[in-house]
Amino acid sequence: MLRAIALAALLLPTAVLGQSVRLRALGTAQDGGIPHAACACPRCDAARADPSRRRLVASLGLVVSGEGSASKVFLIDATPDLRAQLDMLADVRDAPADRVDRAPVDGVLLTHAHVGHYAGLMFFGYEAVSTRDLPVWGTPKMIAFLRANEPWAQLVRIRNIEPREAPPGVAFEPAPGVTVTPIRVPHRDELSDTVGFRITGPARTALYIPDTEPWRNWREPFPDPITLFEGVDVAILDATFYSPGELPGRNIAAIGHPLMTETMDLLESRVRAGALTVYFTHLNHSNPVLDPAGEEARAVESRGFMILRDGQEIPL
Ligand SMILES: [Zn+2]
Ligand SMILES: [Zn+2]
Ligand SMILES: [Zn+2]
Repeated sequence: MLRAIALAALLLPTAVLGQSVRLRALGTAQDGGIPHAACACPRCDAARADPSRRRLVASLGLVVSGEGSASKVFLIDATPDLRAQLDMLADVRDAPADRVDRAPVDGVLLTHAHVGHYAGLMFFGYEAVSTRDLPVWGTPKMIAFLRANEPWAQLVRIRNIEPREAPPGVAFEPAPGVTVTPIRVPHRDELSDTVGFRITGPARTALYIPDTEPWRNWREPFPDPITLFEGVDVAILDATFYSPGELPGRNIAAIGHPLMTETMDLLESRVRAGALTVYFTHLNHSNPVLDPAGEEARAVESRGFMILRDGQEIPL
């Protein structure tokens, strides 16, 4: 019994009175954005013509507000759209008036070294925001990559950022009241390994996995996708592609992401039972669910799943 209590104390975040923790979607597109860089497909042209159809590159803000104290704000991934994404956090920040805020966030949590997920770190350097000792959490491999390669190494050297190793499976508290556990994820790991984050606030636990191989590739040493969702209230998941139809001529077995249809097959019973809420993110410009009135978007909704919108909030 004592042991069980001790374990619970380890796993649950420190309770902080009057605190609210929430995620704010700062972007919901695949690394190339929507409109995608240099793409003139009808969906990208529609997004150029109608700003409401644009989506920034996938990222979350983790906002921790205490009673009577300033909010703490963390970025989950630093994208090439970081400038606009910092603006999306202006209302929860205590920024100095009339000058550059040299501490616009309290930390950054990185999933992996693909451009859509870490290249925005460049804005924290000397040429732009010039932060001081900004905590940046990543796996030991991710941190080693930053330390060993310019221009990221310079951010470390001149102390714009302070790298912090966050090994998969080991929980840490970026702020009192919120616990984050990196979860190993199978993905194209050219420069770093890849993680998702399990984030527990006072009321709920979220799982953020913006980039992953198909669920069938979740085998040792990765967690079983069945156990992955245990204790998770809200999952925010890779929705790069909807179905094989949008990738003509490509072998479905070679697609490096779970199709949205497969993810819905895997999780529909949990969603229907009310045990899990699923939001889709990291949408590729080819994804037909980007058409709000399209049959695919309606099919997602009718199965009880949701497509995350830029700016949308999820309380934890
Ligand atoms: Zn990505
Ligand atoms: Zn396009
Ligand atoms: Zn990736």
